[in-house]
Amino acid sequence: MINIEEFKIMKENALQNHIPIIMDDTLEKIKEILKEKSPERILEIGTAVGYSATCFAMYTGENCIIDTIELDEERAKEAIKNVKKIGVDSKINIMIGNAVDILPILNEQYDIVFIDAAKSKYSIFLEEGLRLIKNGGIILADNILYKGYVMSDYNKHKQRTAVRHLREYIKEVTENPNLETEILEVGDGLAITKVNKKS
Ligand code: SAH
Ligand code: MG
Repeated sequence: MINIEEFKIMKENALQNHIPIIMDDTLEKIKEILKEKSPERILEIGTAVGYSATCFAMYTGENCIIDTIELDEERAKEAIKNVKKIGVDSKINIMIGNAVDILPILNEQYDIVFIDAAKSKYSIFLEEGLRLIKNGGIILADNILYKGYVMSDYNKHKQRTAVRHLREYIKEVTENPNLETEILEVGDGLAITKVNKKS
């Protein structure tokens, strides 16, 4: 049984504490994908306090497992508490550490990979995501348009590195002939990449 009250509290607390949880329209799109695909295994990079992972758990069947990675120890601990309180802990494995170090030691194959962590690491996450995704699987990248900065010629120094890496990600997923990519303007931008054949 899912505790909806606890779910609402998690979302409200996250918003109040300015934790960048996935936006509602992005989530709607991902919900459609999950309903259509009925994944058995999902990999998430960037757990924060467990909001998106909990949503994925609610949109998938009993047998779907979600592995999720969070760098910030305090957030990860809060996520562990949250998923337990909400009652989705049996479907969610939370790993604490830097995804750049953890991804190379994973050996599962995933139906869906959801990238939602450090923007300057998106290319690394893509490379590992491609290694870990099943043929026919889908790699999702949130915040791919980064408030429109990705499309702008004049970016402040502060955003420049992230923008460069996000553009690199877009270039890779659109130019690789084994991948089929759609970039949606929902939320902060969502890249949906279908992996037709692993290269
Ligand atoms: N997916 C969450 C939001 C994630 S916010 C949701 O929608 O509910 C991005 C998170 O990525 C932050 O909590 C940040 O600490 C984490 N993060 C940033 N760099 C990371 C890295 N290299 N490895 C793992 N987590 C990282
Ligand atoms: Mg995000």
